[in-house]
Order: sequence, then structure tokens, then C-alpha cells
Amino acid sequence: MDNIAHTRTVERIIRGQAVMDGAGVKINRVLTQPLQRRLDPFLMLDNFGSEQANDYIAGFPDHPHRGFETVTYMLTGRMRHRDSAGNEGLLASGGVQWMTAGRGVIHSEMPEQAEGLMEGFQLWLNLPAKDKMRAPWYKDFDAADIPQVSTASGASVRVIAGESQGVAGAVQREVTEPLYIDVELPAGAAFSQAIGQGHNAFLYVYRGEVVVDGKAVPAQSMAILANNEGADGVSVQAGPDSRFILLAGKPLNEPIVQYGPFVMNSQAEIFQAVEDFRAGRLGEEAHAV
Ligand code: MN
Repeated sequence: MDNIAHTRTVERIIRGQAVMDGAGVKINRVLTQPLQRRLDPFLMLDNFGSEQANDYIAGFPDHPHRGFETVTYMLTGRMRHRDSAGNEGLLASGGVQWMTAGRGVIHSEMPEQAEGLMEGFQLWLNLPAKDKMRAPWYKDFDAADIPQVSTASGASVRVIAGESQGVAGAVQREVTEPLYIDVELPAGAAFSQAIGQGHNAFLYVYRGEVVVDGKAVPAQSMAILANNEGADGVSVQAGPDSRFILLAGKPLNEPIVQYGPFVMNSQAEIFQAVEDFRAGRLGEEAHAV
């Protein structure tokens, strides 16, 4: 377990908002636009999960992105990704797709299953102003490519980004220093994670219920962790067998202007993105690096 001296406390618990996105995919949106400033550098977190094909089958046909990164984590199911650069990948159970849209990508994300459970997360992570127009990049990670670590207390941790329990995650980012872990915690067990001072952090419980500094966080809800003075991480106790994702990152403290799938620093840059998209210029030079 990461050794921490003082835990962060829960500042606020957020229940998600049921929304439809793409061509009609049912989503629980937990990180919404009004929270972008508070949770900088994170812009959005969606949790999708349904056994009803009608809730996901229409998928996300061709759409653009500019100015940030999208991270899709598939717990269960299969989704195929195609983009304007000719990249293609199949995201299967336990896998992660990390895409840096940079100056522009047009892509589709379509279910490759007609029945059964599809469950996972899509996270949007902002890019610093200096990187918003960088060349696009993406990488698919199979379940086996995500580093895993177990703690003496019985926690099983998948380290998608950052570092946990001395294990480096699949992805590292210099400016935002994102931490993204998926933790499975048996009933009654405790888990600690170091979090950088001043980094914004939250966890989302998707099975069971956990307790942070005496406050219960039920399933399908997000706990925003306070930026307590002197706290060096977070301690989490499971009620019943529980699963949660925990995220933290260094705030950019730059202006955030979002218009749908574009997130830039100014209204003028948004107009430019829309114009580039309409003129067919967005995504034309995209290539995998
Ligand atoms: Mn997308």
C-alpha cells in the first residue's frame, strides 16, 4: 500500500446525469461541464453500462475532436475504433484506448456486439495550450498490457496512468501528470493511494460502497476529494466487495472553452475548429506517431 500520513476527505458526492450521446447511447455522465474548473485537467467522465443492446447498439458514428485526449476503458464488451488517419483497433474487455486528438481527429466508436453486457468509461483529459494543436496520437492497450498490482490488504489494482504501489502505469503525461487506477477491494479491506499536493482528484464507485474518512460513497456516484492542506493521498475502506476508479491530475489553470467535441482556450480557437471541420481540414493530416 502507498504509505500516506494524512488522507483527503470527501468534499462532495455527485450522482450522475442520465444523457444520450453519439447516435443514441445511454450514458451516466458524472463529470459534467460545470465541474470542469473544479476538476481541471479532467473535462468529462461517462460511465456506460447496459445489457440492453438498444442502449448502445447505435454507437458513435464519425465525429471530430480537437484540443484534448480521450481515454476509453472497457470493462466488458467490444468496440471498434476507426479514424481519419486510417487507424483501426478493437477495444475488448479490460482494454484501454488512449487517443490524443491534438489538432484534429475524426473517428467512430462502434459496438462490435449485438447483445450482452457493454460496460466501461470514457474520460476526457485536457491538453495544455501548447499541445492543443500537436499531431494526433493514439494507442490501444489490451487487458494484458495494463500493469497490475496486488496489495497485502487484498486490493487488486490496474494502473492505467501514473503510478500506484510503486508500479508505473501504461501511460505517463508530463504536464497533467494523470493518475488513473481501477481498484477492486474485498469487503472490509483498506487501500491507500498517494496523490500529489494540489492535484485535483475524484473517485467513482461502480460496485459496492466505499468509505473515505467516515463518509460513505455509494455505487454509481463520484466523490470529489477535497484538496486538504497537508493531505498526501487518500485512504479508502470497502463496505461490501467494491470496485472503483480513482483519478487525479495537476490542474492546468488555463481558460477552458468547450463547444461539443472541441475544447480550446478561446472562443476564436473554437470558431477556427468549427471552420476547419466544415472545410474538411480537420483530421486530414492526422497520422499515428
Ligand atoms: Mn469520440
